Amino acid sequence: MARVYNFSAGPAVLPEEVLKEAADEMLDYKGSGQSVMEMSHRSKVYDAIIKEAEKDLRDLLNIPDNYKVLFLQGGASQFFAEVPMNLMKNKKAGYIITGQWAKKAFAEAKIYGEAVELASSADKTFSYIPDCSDLPITDDMDYVYICENNTIYGTKYKTLPNTKGKLLVSDVSSCFLSEPMDVTKYGVVYGGVQKNIGPAGVVIAIIREDLITDDVLTGTPTMLKWKTQSDNDSLYNTPPCYNIYICGKVFKWIKKMGGLSAMKEHNEKKAKILYDFLDESKMFKGTVRKEDRSLMNVPFVTDSEELNAKFIKEAAEAGFVNLKGHRTVGGMRASIYNAMPIEGVEKLVEFMREFEKKNA
Ligand code: PMP
Repeated sequence: MARVYNFSAGPAVLPEEVLKEAADEMLDYKGSGQSVMEMSHRSKVYDAIIKEAEKDLRDLLNIPDNYKVLFLQGGASQFFAEVPMNLMKNKKAGYIITGQWAKKAFAEAKIYGEAVELASSADKTFSYIPDCSDLPITDDMDYVYICENNTIYGTKYKTLPNTKGKLLVSDVSSCFLSEPMDVTKYGVVYGGVQKNIGPAGVVIAIIREDLITDDVLTGTPTMLKWKTQSDNDSLYNTPPCYNIYICGKVFKWIKKMGGLSAMKEHNEKKAKILYDFLDESKMFKGTVRKEDRSLMNVPFVTDSEELNAKFIKEAAEAGFVNLKGHRTVGGMRASIYNAMPIEGVEKLVEFMREFEKKNA
């Protein structure tokens, strides 16, 4: 068996240990005589799986009792609509535009009310996080929305915006569980799991209880009303059972690794190896303002499209796959999520060094 080093932005690398455990349990989950794929979501066995997953996530993030944890479907993209549907009482919200995913959420919100651009880093191809210390937030805004880690551009908020007392809603899809976070600073934190947590098909939303009400926009589908999901403990309809089961295993893996502080240390070590190399290389350059660099997604370029293509091809042949940058920006991007081992990054840098020598 030859596993590659997978630098995909998502779906992404998962801990090998988790995959092996899932393989072992494939035909018979803990003596139930069934695969988790085959069992009823209303069964006792499955109830224990989803409850334990929630408990482990609560432990990892220290989620207070007044926040609900929901396991939802539809991807982060569907949640772009759920946010205004469930929160836009005044039909007005502020958005900070730091990349494609914030832009898409912003465009979605405009369908339902007045979405106002509070700040943007579009002027420099989203290569930095704008100053968010004094934003033009007005009293009638229902919330302020951010995309906390910008998967495509490789930026991350190091401090949260000053929301002037307004509710903060954050898309953490590509930095979920990569480091500790204080949930109480947010009204809503959510993310697709297909980067740091599990197989695509699940969105985890952590929502302050008082924001889950029947007072939603007219026309909100039953499934997209948070109250429906909350009242039914994420089991209003058939959830993506197997995917949630894998998420649960990843939570346990993170706990075993020492929790989120240990994860942060591990991720900082990996990112430093790559960024240090980019800073010293004469051929490869990072594209992000240093203080805004993401620990998870590291975009870089050479000064020639031809060389970029040659690098991506030869890297893949050497077992470093999915290094092509997002189709909208080109260049390269190494996504180095929690499950990417440190040797993956060390070996990639070794390969880049050799490539630079050969092609100088
Ligand atoms: N937000 C961020 C930060 C993303 O990286 C992505 C892409 N995976 C999305 C939202 C959209 O996610 P999905 O494909 O689950 O709709």
